[in-house]
Amino acid sequence: MKDESKDKATHATPILDELEGGKWPSFITGLKHLRDEGTPSNRAIMNDLLGQLEHSYEEKLGFWKGGTISVRGYGGGIIPRFSEVADRFPASKEFHTLRVMPPPGFHYTTDVLRKMCDIWEEYGSGLIAFHGQSGDIMFQGTTSENTQPAFDALNELGFDLGGAGPALRTAMSCVGHARCEQSCFDEQRAHRLMINTFLDEMHRPSLPYKFKFKFSGCGNDCVNAIQRADFAVIGTWRDDIKINQEKVKEHVAKVGRKYTIDTVVSMCPTRAISLNDDDTLEIDNQSCVRCMHCINVMTKALSPGDDKGVSILIGGKRSLKVGDLLGTMIVPFMKLETDEDFEKLEEFGETVIEFFADNALEHERVGETIDRIGLPAFLEAVGVDPDPNMVNHPRTSSYVRTDDFDEEAAKWFERKAAKAQISAE
Ligand code: SF4
Repeated sequence: MKDESKDKATHATPILDELEGGKWPSFITGLKHLRDEGTPSNRAIMNDLLGQLEHSYEEKLGFWKGGTISVRGYGGGIIPRFSEVADRFPASKEFHTLRVMPPPGFHYTTDVLRKMCDIWEEYGSGLIAFHGQSGDIMFQGTTSENTQPAFDALNELGFDLGGAGPALRTAMSCVGHARCEQSCFDEQRAHRLMINTFLDEMHRPSLPYKFKFKFSGCGNDCVNAIQRADFAVIGTWRDDIKINQEKVKEHVAKVGRKYTIDTVVSMCPTRAISLNDDDTLEIDNQSCVRCMHCINVMTKALSPGDDKGVSILIGGKRSLKVGDLLGTMIVPFMKLETDEDFEKLEEFGETVIEFFADNALEHERVGETIDRIGLPAFLEAVGVDPDPNMVNHPRTSSYVRTDDFDEEAAKWFERKAAKAQISAE
């Protein structure tokens, strides 16, 4: 094969070279590696890509424009990029990105990774990003002609396109119970179930705007579900934190009482922890909000309780119409162990997506719809009863009266028990 890269001089990149100077790894070094060590076609593409990027830095302008590129049977998943300076940098004149869904928990075999690299060296620029901010594997830099065969090869390998456009978007789950002792549910099963159920919304988008599912095994929320997902499933527990007092004493003996108080006791957001004189810990579990901080610091002494499940928060998103929103607590606790539990999760997902499809305005995320119509209307629409656990910052909310809180809470528990009895009958 003719080595095209040898025909062209390497573009000088004095401004980009500056970006390699700091102490952190630079993406420029990665691009140059592909330019110098990639396949002949990868080298040509990368040389012109770096040339265009240098030109952009000089002019302080981007020179990419969008368009419409898709593969057969799909309504989203490809980000088209056409160069506006193609006459100067012809090898990278089309630089489309395939957004491909990652496996739940980001578990790959090295064999699969090698095959992905081979596919992208053949049909694309060789440049792959694991993973984009929304979790996708970003196969960056292919031509319009190669988009379909590249997708076919990835699809043959068992992977599907992820989201772009007003569709069900790529979902993400944390590494989960396969490798993390704090995990409170089977994130991988939940992730796979929800994506497979709603895949049509990805292939043939019919939603007003994007909709994302994300799954984190505990309150550490390693995939940022609360900030970024329309439907965030977060592992939690409803019994008491498990305390191994011997390990607490060992911890205190090792780091000291002051350090334990400074880093654990006084960092608890609800002041639920106290350190006894004999170096044992006491936790007021009614006040604990399952934030994971104390468990993160004392991993041997503390761990999540045994009665595990999930909380579901709806409406998290980055800026758009009404600015950044964190997800709103809609289902404070739900068991997620049996087949029936997973069916309930699926049903609830269907209810929320149907609500979104029917009620959201064009280009509106579900969090914005809730903001527009109000939480009570949303709860009624999705068939969820209001619950005191939905109150954000109850200790500082002027709508929560602390003088008769216990009395009101008792009434709520009574109503809840009566309702449970009626549905059991
Ligand atoms: Fe406090 Fe968070 Fe620990 Fe609960 S999990 S006791 S809220 S630090």
